[in-house]
Amino acid sequence: MASEWVFCSIVAGTEPSRQVMENARAVAFLDVNPAADGHTLVAPKEHFPDIWTLGDDAASSVWRLAVEVAHRLDEVLDPNGMTLFQANRAAGWQDIFHFHIHVVPRWEDDALVRPWRPTPGVGERLDDIAGRLQRAVRNGNDMLASTGKGESTLPL
Ligand SMILES: [Zn+2]
Repeated sequence: MASEWVFCSIVAGTEPSRQVMENARAVAFLDVNPAADGHTLVAPKEHFPDIWTLGDDAASSVWRLAVEVAHRLDEVLDPNGMTLFQANRAAGWQDIFHFHIHVVPRWEDDALVRPWRPTPGVGERLDDIAGRLQRAVRNGNDMLASTGKGESTLPL
């Protein structure tokens, strides 16, 4: 089975998994390659390859289930912390092309490391990127308004 379809089979129940929770549109199951004890994946039941294709209802259901999973993991495993991780496209470290969120319990002495070292950005570059995003958001709202589907969105 091609790896991009394995989550389709898991959420359909035709591929075995250690499912821990579900709601109407999403399923949570243990990662078979865990970064830590309790490492759980939350995926929509419908196939969406990545965050750009995820429907609004699935996005809402997946996120609500991830929050519930975080609560249950906190109760059951009593970790010191928790890290959520979500990858898109190969360049974004995605390896299974069915949208999923990683919920990873953390302990003070675990072996995980930050994938980058936070260092201050260049002010001009930050200003430029913020400006481009703000213009895109405004243009997007104009397009929505002109089609009568406008929703107010807080500016960045
Ligand atoms: Zn799928």
